[in-house]
Amino acid sequence: MRVSGKLVKKMVEHAREKAEEEVCGIILGKNNRALMIMRATNTSENPEYTYSMSVRDIIRAYDTAQELAYVIIGFYHSHPCGSPVPSGIDIARATWDGAYYVILNLEGDIKAWNWQGDKKKFSEEKLIIE
Ligand SMILES: [Zn+2]
Repeated sequence: MRVSGKLVKKMVEHAREKAEEEVCGIILGKNNRALMIMRATNTSENPEYTYSMSVRDIIRAYDTAQELAYVIIGFYHSHPCGSPVPSGIDIARATWDGAYYVILNLEGDIKAWNWQGDKKKFSEEKLIIE
């Protein structure tokens, strides 16, 4: 997966704005390349250790993708006090087969994972920051 340094900076800034909670968003792009991020509301009742993305925000991202001829290539969320590795909850809740799940922390560590629905596991993806 390819992403610009500018988009990485935007995601880290988002994470740092809510340092006590997980933040989340949707990644739009084309062919494995992230071109835009859209913030989403974390509707989880326990945002300090998990996230749940607002359905309204996913629909909004879908509409925007259609307008720009992009697709939703994945999602990002933060781990305010942990490594950017999928948690047990992330694994239990992953649904979008083939999507990139980008995880980052407040130190700016960032990793991309690919959800393989048939194997019920995340595999780490090479993240190329351009
Ligand atoms: Zn997580």
